[in-house]
Amino acid sequence: MAKRVVIIGGVATGMKTASRLRRRDKDAEIIVLERGPQLSYGACGFPYFISGEVKNFNSFDHTPQGVARDSEFFRKVKGVDARVGCNVTAIDRAAKTVTYVENGAEKTLPYDVLVLGTGSTPVKLPLPNADAEGIHSFWFPWDVLAVDKELKERKVTDVVIIGAGFIGMELAEAMKNRGLNVSIVEMQDRLLPQMLDKEMADLLKRNIKNSGLNLHLGEKTVGFTVENGVVTGVETDKGIIPAQLVVVAVGVRPNVELAKAAGLEIGPTGCIAVNEYL
Ligand SMILES: Cc1cc2nc3c(=O)[nH]c(=O)nc-3n(C[C@H](O)[C@H](O)[C@H](O)COP(=O)(O)OP(=O)(O)OC[C@H]3O[C@@H](n4cnc5c(N)ncnc54)[C@H](O)[C@@H]3O)c2cc1C
Repeated sequence: MAKRVVIIGGVATGMKTASRLRRRDKDAEIIVLERGPQLSYGACGFPYFISGEVKNFNSFDHTPQGVARDSEFFRKVKGVDARVGCNVTAIDRAAKTVTYVENGAEKTLPYDVLVLGTGSTPVKLPLPNADAEGIHSFWFPWDVLAVDKELKERKVTDVVIIGAGFIGMELAEAMKNRGLNVSIVEMQDRLLPQMLDKEMADLLKRNIKNSGLNLHLGEKTVGFTVENGVVTGVETDKGIIPAQLVVVAVGVRPNVELAKAAGLEIGPTGCIAVNEYL
């Protein structure tokens, strides 16, 4: 009998695994359970939508020929049963089943092999007013659309990006190219602090400054100023930086709750521990 492989998570890891598995095993039954509304989108290009270089948002989850990479596409073209709106709530490793909720109904699905492609969630700053209008993450497709909508509909001239990692830096460049006054706030003393030592980061800093971005390095965000529920600035330990739109790009945390509850080992970095085969 054909093996049933259940994959939890339907973005990069999940859908890549499904497609690769199909190429290696034409008989396997492959089921993907994704809790969100979209499959297989390419988040790496999101900043270029904000800069205007990518005009069509659909291009992030459509093939180059313009076909949506949705459940129907995966069923017809890849032979994969990819279901959206299915939130997996438990894994029973002894019984080899997963429990998930779809349209409010709880369902159980047996598996022979289970793949976790549950990804990560952006970190929110636990600070006063952090939920004010105009303060965004930049991770999910709907974050990007919300940022773009606000840039179009509100009078935004000043943007603050909190976090000088890859996403913060790419987005800062994109916002600058859109003609906005952009400030980057980073609590460490350098740009790309996870990547570069001070010497290399100083070279980059010179270039970035020349490009017209405002840098606030070694500056810790302590809160937000707000008027009528809408952000007006970022408060740091050194002062207030005016902003009508703020993006918090201070990293992501792995979604390990399911794995943890199922008794899987969590490694020292807080991610699911893997062995030498992954
Ligand atoms: C702006 C931006 C730029 C980027 N640029 C680059 C780049 O240049 N290069 C690069 O390598 N990477 C880049 N990345 C990162 C890259 O997009 C991610 O590493 C990639 O999306 C990770 O894919 P994933 O499938 O592992 O996880 P995710 O994309 O996090 O997807 C996991 C999915 O699992 C689902 N899920 C979680 N729990 C459950 C559950 N219990 N039940 C059902 N579904 C569940 C979630 O809803 C989610 O859709 C960028 C990301 C962003 C946002």
